[in-house]
Amino acid sequence: MKAKFATVCISCGDKIRPGKEILKNRDEKWVHKHCAEDSEGLP
Ligand SMILES: [Zn+2]
Repeated sequence: MKAKFATVCISCGDKIRPGKEILKNRDEKWVHKHCAEDSEGLP
């Protein structure tokens, strides 16, 4: 989904601006879409 508000990606620590594609990770925290996909292969 697209961010409706400004927040911080807890995966990379960068800012998420409204309109960016974001996802919730397994901890229910917002991360960039690409950050969530990057972490899926990790143990
Ligand atoms: Zn990120």
